[in-house]
Amino acid sequence: MNEPWRPSGAAAPVAKLIEELHRLPGVGPKGAQRLAYHLLRASKQEAAALAEAILEVKDKIVLCTVCQNTTDVDPCAICSDAGRDRSIICVVEEPLDILAIERTRGHKGLYHVLHGSISPMEGVGPEQLKIRELLVRLRDGTVTEVIMATNPNLEGEATSMYCGRLLEPLGVKVTRLARGLPMGGDLEYADDLTLARALENRQEL
Ligand SMILES: [Zn+2]
Repeated sequence: MNEPWRPSGAAAPVAKLIEELHRLPGVGPKGAQRLAYHLLRASKQEAAALAEAILEVKDKIVLCTVCQNTTDVDPCAICSDAGRDRSIICVVEEPLDILAIERTRGHKGLYHVLHGSISPMEGVGPEQLKIRELLVRLRDGTVTEVIMATNPNLEGEATSMYCGRLLEPLGVKVTRLARGLPMGGDLEYADDLTLARALENRQEL
C-alpha cells in the first residue's frame, strides 16, 4: 500500500478521491490524478457503476469453506466442478495465483489458498495461514498429490518446505513447481509458458 499523500491545487473532494486512489497498489501520484480527473469527466452512471462494483465485492465475496478461494457461491465453482481431478490439490499463496495457473491450462485438479506465506520478517507464522484447512482436506485419502505452487522467493520456499514436512507423513506425494520461474518474483507475474513448464516439470519435494 502506498503512503498517504495529499495533493495540492485540487478542490477538497477531488483531492480526497486522488488520495484514496493513490492507496491502491500500483497507482502512483500521477496515475491517481489521471484516474480522478477521468472519473470527474465520466457520467454519474459510470461513476455509480464503479462504486457499486466495489461495494458488491465487499458484500458478496466470501472465502470458499473448502479451498479458501474468494467466491460468491460456497463451495466455489472450482470445488463443485465434477469435471476436475479430486486427487490433486495445487496449493497457492493468493487467490490471484489461481488465475495465473488456470491460464496455463496445465492443472485439472483442485486448489487450496494459504492466504500468505511464512515470513518471520513480517511476523507471519504457519498458524496464520490456511494450513489447518488443507490438512482437513487430506483426511479421507482422496488426495494423492499436493503441488506446492508458492512464489519463487524465500518466503514461498520456506512455506513449501514447511507444508512438505507436514504432509509427507500423511502418505501424500508432495511436489514443487520446477525451477525456472524468475527468483524473487510473484507467481501472478510469471508468463504463461514458463509457468506451464514449471507445473509440468514439477519435482517431488
Ligand atoms: Zn473452493
